[in-house]
Amino acid sequence: MNQSEIEKIIVKDEKLVVPSVPTIPLIDGDGIGPEISKTARFVIDNAVEKSYHGKRKLNWLKTYAGEEAFKKFGDWLPLESLKTMSDYVVTLKGPLTTPLGGGIRSLNVAIRQALDLYACVRPVRYFEGVPSPVKYPEKLNVVIFRENTEDVYAGIEWEEGSAEAKGIIGFLKGFGKEIRLDSGIGIKPVSETGTKRLVRAAIRFALENKRKSITLVHKGNIMKFTEGAFMKWGYETAREEFAETTVTEEEVSKNFGGVVPEGKLLIKDRVADSMFQQVLLRPEEYDVIATTNLNGDYLSDACAAQVGGIGIAPGANINFSTGTAVFEATHGTAPKYAGQDKANPSSLILSGCMLLEYLGWKEAAEMITRAMARTIMQKRVTYDFERLMEGAVLMKCSEFGSATVENME
Ligand code: NAP
Repeated sequence: MNQSEIEKIIVKDEKLVVPSVPTIPLIDGDGIGPEISKTARFVIDNAVEKSYHGKRKLNWLKTYAGEEAFKKFGDWLPLESLKTMSDYVVTLKGPLTTPLGGGIRSLNVAIRQALDLYACVRPVRYFEGVPSPVKYPEKLNVVIFRENTEDVYAGIEWEEGSAEAKGIIGFLKGFGKEIRLDSGIGIKPVSETGTKRLVRAAIRFALENKRKSITLVHKGNIMKFTEGAFMKWGYETAREEFAETTVTEEEVSKNFGGVVPEGKLLIKDRVADSMFQQVLLRPEEYDVIATTNLNGDYLSDACAAQVGGIGIAPGANINFSTGTAVFEATHGTAPKYAGQDKANPSSLILSGCMLLEYLGWKEAAEMITRAMARTIMQKRVTYDFERLMEGAVLMKCSEFGSATVENME
């Protein structure tokens, strides 16, 4: 591969233009980050090579964040790294420690906010053989689009007793709203702009991937002007921008005898508490889910747990207008296992699959998913699965990566 073939991904009309050797920033991460990143890279590089035989390759660019950046530059999240992630558009990232003290809430949240990565995308599906707490885990196969910049993530909070909290309490009194004086205050904004761009991205994804339905999840029965408005603006987006290709539940029962017309995407909504029951009791009725920040936080982990995949669930944070995307392990740094080549690399590997799909390199992504499914079925797994599976063979992190590559066809 010669140097001049290595190029940047560019974004034209909200679409990625991907060269054959794109540069991809890689943040190894803290704790178990370096070992799972090394394994994920090994698996991803092998899949790309086996799928495209040298015609395509990823040019990884080491990028600093977290403890490594702090040691080297005295900065947990250098501006230069954010600029690299924005310039090169697509990044793969291991887990990062949340620094204690120093005013940083979370490096992950800081990255999402700095790059305005408004959609947190979490696909949740079952891999045969993974220990799960439910009877039919394979029935759940959803992709959750969680709003990533508003609601509780806007981070507007004041401590009980602070001048700001007292000020807000006094201010609200002027509107006839009584709040106990010893209250902490949190503000939960949900905007039309934030909602519509999230729901638009979810609908486009559902249409492009021939998914059957979109469910808007909200708590609009209690919070009408934030959660309820999310639902209202979600339906509006479907009606105003996707009228030809979408249909609501109400229209299906009124006009189509209860059967969704061929080729149409069904738009429905569910109240959040009911949705937690629904994904357990009627999982096959759900497909793409679009929701506000806090609901999405809970629902993503609950769904991942249902398929036994809380430690292996992948995730991405994406701005579909600028194209900027960060694909990341959804678990933390598991510091007690750092340096032991022991942790499960699957979450980062599957996030790598999402990255490949985002580039349009579907063959390589599918090759990894199939190979990983086979490795798990062969019960060649890391400690976290091994302790729950009968007759399993314990693999190190790197050995699981090698077994997955062996299983690539
Ligand atoms: P954690 O790092 O996710 O670890 C909690 C437990 O989950 C581990 O002790 C381990 O369970 C299991 N686990 C996590 N990743 C695993 C893997 N790859 N393979 C096998 N088991 C795994 O959560 P935490 O201890 O609450 O957080 C540690 C640090 O990570 C904190 O600084 C936190 O802020 C940060 N964090 C970062 C991210 C992110 O970067 N996206 C996300 C969450 C937390 P067992 O001990 O039972 O085996």
